[in-house]
Amino acid sequence: MGSAARGPAGKDRNRPAAPSRGSRFRAIFPGMEIYDHPTWRMACQQFDLVAERLDIPDCDRDRMKYPKRSMTVAIPVHTDDGCTRVFTGHRVQHHLALGPTKGGLRYHPEVALGEVAALAMWMSWKCALAGLPYGGAKGGVACDPRTLSATELERLTRRYTQEMIPFIGPQVDIMAPDMGTNEQVMAWMMDTYSVHMGYSVPSIVTGKPVRIGGSLGRREATGRGVAYLVNRASDTIGLSHENATACIQGYGNVGSVAALSLARHGVKIIAVSDVSGGVFNARGLDLWKLNAHVAEKKTVLGFPEGDSLTNEQLLETPCDILVPAALERQITAANAGRIRCRILAEAANGPVTPEADAILAERLEIFLIPDVLCNAGGVIVSYFEWVQDLQSFFWSEAEVTDKLFRILEQAFVQMMALVKKQKISTRLAALSLGIQRVHEARKLRGLFP
Ligand code: NAD
Repeated sequence: MGSAARGPAGKDRNRPAAPSRGSRFRAIFPGMEIYDHPTWRMACQQFDLVAERLDIPDCDRDRMKYPKRSMTVAIPVHTDDGCTRVFTGHRVQHHLALGPTKGGLRYHPEVALGEVAALAMWMSWKCALAGLPYGGAKGGVACDPRTLSATELERLTRRYTQEMIPFIGPQVDIMAPDMGTNEQVMAWMMDTYSVHMGYSVPSIVTGKPVRIGGSLGRREATGRGVAYLVNRASDTIGLSHENATACIQGYGNVGSVAALSLARHGVKIIAVSDVSGGVFNARGLDLWKLNAHVAEKKTVLGFPEGDSLTNEQLLETPCDILVPAALERQITAANAGRIRCRILAEAANGPVTPEADAILAERLEIFLIPDVLCNAGGVIVSYFEWVQDLQSFFWSEAEVTDKLFRILEQAFVQMMALVKKQKISTRLAALSLGIQRVHEARKLRGLFP
């Protein structure tokens, strides 16, 4: 970011002349158009709002917003039918002020650099909010893992890791699972990196199988964290879990664990969905039977003990707790007025657009748990896994979960204190805490040289 020409007043000469608030919010730093994407614009809009509130000087804002590094690589893979296919992979490291960067790796057909950059930025605020010694990062490969065989997926993962070796390391950048990736993918990454180094390096990734250095409780961490925070939100608004209902969009790792954890707290799960559609049962879905169905059919669709519904219908189904646990930008200006819940728990990253946020801000009956807090359980236990790997000293699951809840509790309390003190939304409060901490770290470290 440092190479841009600066005017005499410290302002950027190349920056579009945009003193008005609206136009400055939309400005993209010259040369950084590569990041332009709806999700990137959304993350920038959120950042600009908070930067304005925190009065972060203009000259610090671009440095905080734009990624430190981004890599895009071509990944040639031998397919099982004897051909070669080339996939595109990205890794974005947002900032390095607080330690190595940390963030998931996503396999999804619509992965794009700007989306990955937005997710990396959110990871930065999330890690800072939880007090973790990391900057944010994210990776992604544009592919549909459901259409690849296990051997193709392994070749793709190993080649992506190989291409990223100059940019990653246990003290540089540590990956973890995200949408479309899992423990097995992390195991292949760890093996590829370890073969390159000549010795085992478990701390290069988190979210790997427990048998090769993973942490107990990591797979469940994000979903468990979501349920913990839903409980705290329920206490705050006086919602009893007896007869409470929940709808969950995205019945993957996070969504399914969140469902099970909420059910354990007495919540009735009435609707769940995946990329193919959803299933609804007003009496509550039997999660054991549903999980057996998903294990066999790889989708919730066709579950016999319920009626089918679309993802759009699920979001508008009346319930107490709505958990979007799939993709970004699911709740927009078009449907924000029609969602009917008491708690909106953002298990996914960026499921609510800023336009929808403005509508929800008027709907005081809805308590929003913002993504940077709601799904932070994943990176918190990833941090525990990294620490355990570095020390080769492993903790019990109870210890992991106890420490996880302590950190979430502290972040929730700090967020609520700011909400009350400044009379702002939960999202603004959570983002403000994260962004402020990164800004302070940057100020303390200064600018080299
Ligand atoms: P996953 O791949 O295990 O599950 C994703 C689920 O979403 C699947 O059921 C998939 O079918 C469904 N889905 C995909 N596209 C959809 C669409 N267009 N409409 C509805 N459903 C769709 O992924 P995950 O790890 O559970 O991640 C889910 C979300 O949680 C993502 O936004 C991810 O960034 C976020 N997250 C995950 C973690 C983690 O630890 N895995 C941590 C923090 C945040």
